Amino acid sequence: MEMNIEEIVKQVLEEMQGTGIAAEPKAAGSIPKTSKAAMLTALEHYEIKEFPIPELGDDDILVKVEGCGVCGTDAHEFKRDPFGLIPLVLGHEGTGEIVKMGKNVKKDSAGKSLAIGDKVVTCMIFKDNPDITMFDLNKQNVGGADVYGLLPDDDIHLNGWFADYLVVRGGSTIFNVSDLDLDSRILIEPCAVLIHAVERAKTTGILRFNSRVVVQGCGPIGLICIAILKTMGVHNIVAVDGEQKRLDFAKELGASATVNFKDYKGIEALTDGVENAFGGYLADFAFQCTGSPVAHSNIYKFIRNGGGLCELGFFINGGDATINPHFDICSKEITTVGSWVYTLRDYATTFDFLKSAKSIGLPIGKLITHKFPLNQINEAHITNLKMEGLKIAIVNE
Ligand SMILES: [Zn+2]
Repeated sequence: MEMNIEEIVKQVLEEMQGTGIAAEPKAAGSIPKTSKAAMLTALEHYEIKEFPIPELGDDDILVKVEGCGVCGTDAHEFKRDPFGLIPLVLGHEGTGEIVKMGKNVKKDSAGKSLAIGDKVVTCMIFKDNPDITMFDLNKQNVGGADVYGLLPDDDIHLNGWFADYLVVRGGSTIFNVSDLDLDSRILIEPCAVLIHAVERAKTTGILRFNSRVVVQGCGPIGLICIAILKTMGVHNIVAVDGEQKRLDFAKELGASATVNFKDYKGIEALTDGVENAFGGYLADFAFQCTGSPVAHSNIYKFIRNGGGLCELGFFINGGDATINPHFDICSKEITTVGSWVYTLRDYATTFDFLKSAKSIGLPIGKLITHKFPLNQINEAHITNLKMEGLKIAIVNE
């Protein structure tokens, strides 16, 4: 009987919250006392653990996780723990719904209001630079800042998106993305990497609407690059890869022609292939989106004199690449930029890109080729390591 009264009081209180007379912190529905989280406890081994959902501070937000992409970084951590973080809850490409917030939480990092039920993503946590906002045009990228999903374990534990709930602590960046569908929201983080790369490419002054652009590598990074170029109005895009399935998808996302490098013997023949794909011209600009040193060496050959290159394929050290400084850079006057993660500004641009891509019918959601529930996270990572799909995602039921 006592239990029943407690239940009724709880329900009444919850209903009152819906009418705005609620006691702080605001909360939606019934929130369980514990949350599942997939914790990487050893190399190549996740354990589903149950942690208490803590009391929220006045600046904190509790997010019910809907889904999270598996990133290349997660794959490295899964296989080798290069950051020395085990045990931890991984998952940084996540999104979910606000179910509870502290009384001080009113707006997201872009100034948009936040309410229970809003769909959100997080970006960096500037614990050393709490004053950095997306409005100061600070060029600092995420390198050096923390992100949820790559934090050391602590007594809250709910620090990554491979879980049922995430505790977003005050001082984090958070964005209200309620106007994007779930697949788009899962793709925000990898898309931001490409928004940044295109912004870097634009600093050369060589990338224009009518540019001939070669994109080498049609994994998720190269494919998203093609989609962004397409939404920008660049129409002359040649995709280079060794997998026909990926090249076919590159066409769906905006490539005007494709070159399968397996059809060519040697770099001269391959360069002819790229030139033919542009109707007899070399590229004005190239994006190098593979982690292969040979691919880096090759790409200079595809670029015309005075052209540009953005290298963004080496998110880990893939070894040295050989180039000929005379033929490849000096005599051709190639302008080269590197690109590394993104800035907060790039995040906001990414939301607009995803809406534009949808509005012109690019099937961006098809980048997510596999979806696994949280309790199959080990299988999800093994599938990711086999490189059979494109983006693998954990989607909560
Ligand atoms: Zn990532």
